[in-house]
Amino acid sequence: MRANVFRGVQKFGIEDVDRPRARAGEAILRVTLTTICGTDLHIVRGEYPVEPGRIIGHEPVGVIEELGPGVTGYSVGERVLVGAITPCGQCHACLSGHLSQCGHGEGYEAIGGWRLGNTIQGSQAEYVRIPNAQANLARIPDGLTDEQVVLLSDIASTGISGAESGGVRIGDAVVVFAQGPIGLCATVGARLMGASLVIGVDGDETRLRYSRKMGADVVLDHRQQDVVAEIKRLTGGGADVAIEALGTQQTFENALRCLRPGGTLSSLGVYSGKLELPYSAFAAGLGDHRVVTTLCPGGKERMRRLMELVRAKRIDLTPLLTHSFALEDIGDAYALFGDRREGVIKVAIRP
Ligand SMILES: [Zn+2]
Ligand SMILES: [Zn+2]
Repeated sequence: MRANVFRGVQKFGIEDVDRPRARAGEAILRVTLTTICGTDLHIVRGEYPVEPGRIIGHEPVGVIEELGPGVTGYSVGERVLVGAITPCGQCHACLSGHLSQCGHGEGYEAIGGWRLGNTIQGSQAEYVRIPNAQANLARIPDGLTDEQVVLLSDIASTGISGAESGGVRIGDAVVVFAQGPIGLCATVGARLMGASLVIGVDGDETRLRYSRKMGADVVLDHRQQDVVAEIKRLTGGGADVAIEALGTQQTFENALRCLRPGGTLSSLGVYSGKLELPYSAFAAGLGDHRVVTTLCPGGKERMRRLMELVRAKRIDLTPLLTHSFALEDIGDAYALFGDRREGVIKVAIRP
């Protein structure tokens, strides 16, 4: 089969590789649509380590091609969506309700239960092997297209979880720092959870335009104004929930500074190096703030719920799929996505 294989820093491309076969508990999907994630850019730039020879990609939509022994209740030919995180449903973390942290304490070095395109072969290929298939194959409801569901696998599950973990309540004022793919989905999530004011912050005009389109009531350009002061003014003293969707010291700190006393900072960003907490932003520890972090929720029940939101027309993420490429042209897709050319938000990849 054809697959996008990582060979080393800035060395990757389409190769012929062996097609995977299903072992016990596994399924093989014929991939019909996938995409490129910001994390994949970190991999090809050498900023997140994976082994050379790894097929990249963790957002698969496909058709069941083969079912391994022990996978019941599914048939070959069914269309399914698989989350970026593939929990086993059986371990200590899964059975404690922390499916994203699947495998913790069981010898996995990877971040949580993220396996596809990380510790095992991924989805930028004609076929992909899904581990723990029983816990991870989510049937796509009739009438929904691949394009309508592909972004649920990772960015929508993550973004919306930022609002859920932040405990957004009806009537809340919510600010989302950074309006990239995940931040835009956090904006969608804040609306879904009942926020009455959603403020999107970014420094890119295209992204601020998308922020409005995806449901922000107000957008703020951090290049042009003191966003913390403006958020305090708009909210009458501070936001109830601030969602951080970038992973930098500055956005984390600004998210903390714009909270009302008792507010919640819901962090989705992936940080590197040292993250500092200035005591003024932290109200010297007396602000009754909550800081929560969330890794992309996965598993078939999460995917089922997200697809129900699409089916019921509560959300539509298709505007975020701005470009489409054949698998063979994935190099061009990485270049466009990596350089953020042509107002790209997400790219669809068709094997
Ligand atoms: Zn991802
Ligand atoms: Zn598990």
